[in-house]
Amino acid sequence: MAAWRFRHPTALAVVLAVAVTAAAPAALPAEHAAPASAARTAAAATASGRYELVSTVDPTRPMRWPACRPIEYRINPTDMPSGMVATVQHAMGVVARQTGVRFRFAGRTAHLFDSTNHAATPTIYIGFTNRAHAFGQTFGGTGGEVGVGGPAASWYRSGGRTVEAMTYGRVLLSSRFRAPRTGGGVSWQSLILHEVGHALDLAHQGGPGTIMHPSLTAATPAQFTPAEVRALRRVLQTSGCDDAAWSRL
Ligand SMILES: [Zn+2]
Repeated sequence: MAAWRFRHPTALAVVLAVAVTAAAPAALPAEHAAPASAARTAAAATASGRYELVSTVDPTRPMRWPACRPIEYRINPTDMPSGMVATVQHAMGVVARQTGVRFRFAGRTAHLFDSTNHAATPTIYIGFTNRAHAFGQTFGGTGGEVGVGGPAASWYRSGGRTVEAMTYGRVLLSSRFRAPRTGGGVSWQSLILHEVGHALDLAHQGGPGTIMHPSLTAATPAQFTPAEVRALRRVLQTSGCDDAAWSRL
C-alpha cells in the first residue's frame, strides 16, 4: 500500500511591471526601462535566478511539467477584453512552436488566480482583472504591474521514492493594459509569453532583449530567446512521463 508521508503543494507567482501602458512602445523613455517596481518583482525569483521551483530530491534540478501529453490551458472570461481568446491562442502557438510541446486550448474556466484546485491534467489557467487591486497586486498606471504568473507543484514520498511534478500554472493579466495584441515590444503577446513563462517555471532572467526581463520595453522580443527555449525545455518533460503518479499529486 502506498504511504503518503508527505504532500506539499507550493505555488509561486512573479509579477511583471510595464513601464507605461501607452500603445507607443517606440516612444518609451529610457528611465522607464527599469521602473522601481521591477526590483520588487525580482525578489520572488530563486537565488540562482534560473528556476522558481526546484526538485525536492535534487535542488540543482528544476521541477518539471509532465508534457508527454498536451498541456492544457483554460481562460476565465471574467473581465477579459474582447477578442482576447485569439490573442492568447496566438501566444500559446508561439510557445508550442518554439518548445515542440503541445498546448491545447481546453475552453473556459471559473478558476481564480488564488484557487488551489486543479484539473486532472496539467493545466495553465489564464485570467484577467479590471481592478486596480486584486489578489495582493496593484495593477495599472505608469510603472504599475500588468500581469502576474507562476507555477504550482506538489510532491509526495512513498517507499523511499519521491514523486514530484508541476500540477498547474496560473496567470492573471490586467485588463487595464493598453497595447497592440501581437508582435514584440510592449504588446499583449509579449505580456502573455512572459507570464506563461513564469507559469511554466521560468524566473526573471536576461536583459531587455528577453521575454523574461522584469519589464516590458520596446526591446522585448516577440518570442523566447534561444536560451529561454533551452530553459523551457528543461522544465518540460516530453518523454517517460509517469501520468499515473502525477494524477495523485
Ligand atoms: Zn515577471
